[in-house]
Amino acid sequence: MTASPNVSMPVALLEAPGRMELTRRPVPVPGPGEVLIRVLAVGVCGSDVHCYLHGAVGSLRMTGPIVLGHEVAGLIEEVGSGVPESRVGERVSLEPQRPCLACSACLTGTYNLCPEMRFFAAPPTDGALAHFATLPATFAHPLPDDVSLEAAALLEPVSCAVHSCRQAEIRPGSRVLIAGAGPIGLLLVQMARVFGATVVAITDPHEEKLRLARELGATHTALARDVRDGHPDRYDAFIDACGVEQALLAGIRALGPAGVAVLVGLGKEESLFPADHVLSNEISVRGSFRYRNTWPLAIELVRSGAVDVEQLVTGRFGLSEAAEALRTTKEPGAVKSVIYPAIHAVQVPGGPQYDTTWTRREDVRP
Ligand SMILES: [Zn+2]
Ligand SMILES: [Zn+2]
Repeated sequence: MTASPNVSMPVALLEAPGRMELTRRPVPVPGPGEVLIRVLAVGVCGSDVHCYLHGAVGSLRMTGPIVLGHEVAGLIEEVGSGVPESRVGERVSLEPQRPCLACSACLTGTYNLCPEMRFFAAPPTDGALAHFATLPATFAHPLPDDVSLEAAALLEPVSCAVHSCRQAEIRPGSRVLIAGAGPIGLLLVQMARVFGATVVAITDPHEEKLRLARELGATHTALARDVRDGHPDRYDAFIDACGVEQALLAGIRALGPAGVAVLVGLGKEESLFPADHVLSNEISVRGSFRYRNTWPLAIELVRSGAVDVEQLVTGRFGLSEAAEALRTTKEPGAVKSVIYPAIHAVQVPGGPQYDTTWTRREDVRP
């Protein structure tokens, strides 16, 4: 089967901050070494919401309309040259990055730091809130049958948590403090336990998020202002998953000798820094930027039930409801929204229901 650029597909396009339109674009054609994915589930990330509201992700600003969505699961629909035809029909989770694979960062294995990176939904690169997307075949990770497509979409934030726990050097017996009980913080609670941490404390301004954190394995919880009450001992690792300066400072100060602080939550571009505590305790402060080589472990942890992602899903939406999915994610009580691009939403009395019949390629002609 050959993709025709004349075939178009529905796309949720962010035209400008706060303005999302459902429009049509040509179905992308997989290049050499690439696969064409039929997008079946997309998790909404805090960075998508930030881009929707403010037109920027970190220091990357929107320069024109952009397609959001980088937490993606789907089905391989077509393969480009050099990719075995046998991969067509595979259920996959997408590692949504395209590093150059030729620079020194890539060649030394830190491909997530590639200066030439094109990352889904990081301006100006488009994401996957559409019926189809293309990706290098190596980054379309095959799924075991017992991992649902919804869980597969959320392997992306699970991968963030794997990478952060590696950066934090969490090992059996570690005492870990996490700031922020959003999706990443709640996954970090579970991941820290998987890595062997025996104390996992978490802080957040919302009591209901802390309750969920306890259900997911947190040993100590505290409202954000009480960070030092989380646990009386000093911590071995602190992971900031909220990007709030006071939480960052309090977290670093809560570290004991040779502790490791890891920054994963996007916050202000610059921040204060407890230099004396860092110096006199030989604290290491590190970034955790996306992930590298995390999918095989993430898949295994979700498949085995060691990490529960489905409990985090608080809303499910069709592609035409993408803006609502993004807005809802900000509401109190919401944790994670998932959008099903290739599934038609049908209004029925009592609320929306989803016709889970997959749209066929023929159905997406203009
Ligand atoms: Zn994400
Ligand atoms: Zn590179």
